[in-house]
Order: sequence, then structure tokens, then C-alpha cells
Amino acid sequence: MRKPIIAGNWKMHKTMEEAVDFTEKVKGMVPSSAQVETVICAPFLFLDRLVNDVKRYNVKVGAQTMHYEEQGAYTGEVSPAALKGIGVSHVILGHSERRELYNETDEAVNKKVLSAFQYGLTPIVCVGETLEQWENGETNEHVKSQVTKALQGLSEDQVKSLVIAYEPIWAIGTGKSSTADGAEEVCGHIRQVIESNFSKGAADAVRIQYGGSVKPENIREFMNCPNIDGALVGGASLDPDSFLKLLEASA
Ligand code: PEP
Repeated sequence: MRKPIIAGNWKMHKTMEEAVDFTEKVKGMVPSSAQVETVICAPFLFLDRLVNDVKRYNVKVGAQTMHYEEQGAYTGEVSPAALKGIGVSHVILGHSERRELYNETDEAVNKKVLSAFQYGLTPIVCVGETLEQWENGETNEHVKSQVTKALQGLSEDQVKSLVIAYEPIWAIGTGKSSTADGAEEVCGHIRQVIESNFSKGAADAVRIQYGGSVKPENIREFMNCPNIDGALVGGASLDPDSFLKLLEASA
């Protein structure tokens, strides 16, 4: 039985005051960690405060990216050691916005995934196709390539403990989500890729989220799919009431 995981991706939203206000409203209302794993992925600046504010309330805190080196002359970057040191538990890697806007390659994503494990962070590895690839029927091939490259060099146990987020790029922030059947088919395909690259045990254990315009109104459709174990949520994770509804629907 795979435990559902809902992760909010705040992207570059909120001030510190708004972040603290959010956690004040949700803490105490979050379903138990036995029912659903809850993660908030916030801008770097808020992470330390959020970890301390929510650690007693079944909420884990994640970063939205990181560098793969422990330290060095990388102006503006944040290291996995620094994240781990303040109690961050998860990190989104290879989000399509990082790939598109900051030229993050499959090779860099792989280095970051390996590094995250070295520092005890759980990666949420994002994969997904463009609209053009989707229209040309290239989704499965593209996603297979991204998954294979991102997870290169991992042990079977590491694969079992990570999270993959299938996010069609055309569905992110557009209000136009994939159909549940369409998302289920690709998530099932990702599981097959994991089975052929690693093992049936790894494929059965790895958790796969759907992401792309998930809202309280449509989350149940995705959560009812056998190969979908949760959601990575952008816009609808920003409002406390909406975030709590997403959690309730997944618990
Ligand atoms: C995301 O940020 O990964 C995402 C899926 O955003 P949204 O839910 O707003 O589409």
C-alpha cells in the first residue's frame, strides 16, 4: 500500500508574513501522517521558519530546487547540506519551469537526485511533455527518457523511496488539467519503465504524483486512479482552505 503524498509548490509566491499566516491557518487541521504525507515546498527564504512552525503538525517542508554540490563558488545557489541542516525533508527537482527557464538538463537533474540522497533529502522528480510532444503522441517516449536519465545510478532502495511527479507542461498553471485516464496511462507507463530499469519491487513502491491544474474540484478523479499516489499542486496550494480540501480529498 503506497501512502498518498500531496505537495504544494508555492513557486515564487508569498511574503514571509503571508507564509506564516498560511501555516497558522492550516496547522492543527492537517490529516494525520498515517493518512497522507503533506509537504509544502516554499521559497528558500521561508524554509527555516516553516520547518519550525509546522514540525509538530504532520507537515513536511521542501525546497523547489537545489545545487548538487555540498558547497562552493556558486553565487545565489543553495546546497543540499544547508537544506538538510535546517530540517528540510524534500526537494523538487527538474520542475519544467527550472528546465525551461534555467536550462536545467537531464544530466543536472540526475546529479541533483544523487546528491539529494547523499544528504538524506527525498527528491520529487518532475517529468512531463510539451503540448507539441503530446499532440504528436511522443509523451511516453519522452517521459521514459526523462525518468531513465534522472534515476541513473540510483539503488533499488533509493528508487523505492523517491517521488516522481508526472506533470504535462501544457497542464501546469493553465487551468486545463489532463484527464484522469490520460494521467493514469502515463503514470502506469512510468511504473513499467521503473520495473524494466530496476525491479518490480521498486515499481510497486515508488510513488507517482500527477501535477497540472489540480484543484479541490478535480483531485478525487486523480486519486481514484491505481497508479496515481498523490499530486504536486501549484496554484491551488496557495490558499489555506483550498490546500486543506486537497488534503481531505486525498486522506
Ligand atoms: C506545479 O507548479 O508543479 C503545478 C502543477 O502548478 P499548477 O497546479 O498551478 O498547475
